[in-house]
Amino acid sequence: MEATERSQLRRLPDRGSHESEVIHKILDDGFLAHVGFQVQGQPFVTPTLYGRDGDTLYLHGSAASRMLRELDTGMPACVTVTLVDGLVLARSAFNHSMNYRSVMAFGTAKKIADAAEKTRALHVVSVHVLKGRWKDVRGPTEQELKATAVLRFAIEEASAKVRQGPPLDNEEDYSLPVWAGVLPLKLVSQEPIPDPRMVEGVEEPEYVRNRSDRA
Ligand SMILES: Cc1cc2nc3c(=O)[nH]c(=O)nc-3n(C[C@H](O)[C@H](O)[C@H](O)COP(=O)(O)OP(=O)(O)OC[C@H]3O[C@@H](n4cnc5c(N)ncnc54)[C@H](O)[C@@H]3O)c2cc1C
Repeated sequence: MEATERSQLRRLPDRGSHESEVIHKILDDGFLAHVGFQVQGQPFVTPTLYGRDGDTLYLHGSAASRMLRELDTGMPACVTVTLVDGLVLARSAFNHSMNYRSVMAFGTAKKIADAAEKTRALHVVSVHVLKGRWKDVRGPTEQELKATAVLRFAIEEASAKVRQGPPLDNEEDYSLPVWAGVLPLKLVSQEPIPDPRMVEGVEEPEYVRNRSDRA
C-alpha cells in the first residue's frame, strides 16, 4: 500500500509495515475498531464494529449516530484496530512493553444509499464478526434498513505496527534476579449462555459452539 508522510512510521519504524497482506490479516483478525474524527476542533474516537472487503471497511450503526453522520460529510478519518498479544515484562521499569498488532487506516467514508448494496455491506460486517450467523436470522426489513446507516470507508493508505518476542533489556540488566518474559494475552469466547426466552428444541449452532478464538 502507498505510504505518504501521514502513514510513515517515525517511532520504531522497523516494527512497521505498509504491506497490504500484513494490514489485511490484522484487520481480519480483529472486529473492533476505533474511529477518530474531528468536529469543530474537538476530536472524537468512537469504538465500533467493522467488516472488510478488499480495501473497504464497512461501518454501521443507528441512522442517528453522530459519528456516521459526520463521517458522511467526507471529513478525513482514521480507523485504528488493535490486537493485544501480551504484556512484555522486562528487568527494568523502562523496558516494559506490549506485544501487539495494530493498523491505522486513513480515508474518508460515504453513506450507502442503495438498499441492496446496504444489505450486502451488512452481510460483510456480520460474516466478519461471526461467520454463519447471517443465514440463520431474519433479515432486515425495509424499515430496519432505513433506521440503519451503513458507511463505506475507503482506505486511502494504512500502516501496520507489530511487536513480538521477549523483552529487550539493557545488557547490564540481564544479570538482575528479576522475573522477565511475556505474559501472553488473548480474547477468548466463553461457554455460550442460551437466551431464557428461546423456543424449545433449538440447537446451538456450530459457529456458536466452536467460535474460533479471535484476537
Ligand atoms: C496495544 C498497544 C499499546 C501501546 N502502548 C504505548 C504506550 O504506552 N506508549 C507509547 O508511546 N506508545 C504505545 N504504543 C505505540 C503507539 O501506538 C505508537 O506507535 C507510538 O506511541 C508512536 O507514536 P507516534 O505518534 O510517535 O508515531 P509515528 O511513528 O510518528 O506515527 C506516524 C505514523 O505511523 C503509523 N503508526 C504509528 N503507530 C502505529 C501503530 N501503533 N499502528 C499502526 N500504525 C502506526 C501511523 O500511520 C502514523 O500516522 C502502543 C501500541 C499498541 C498497539
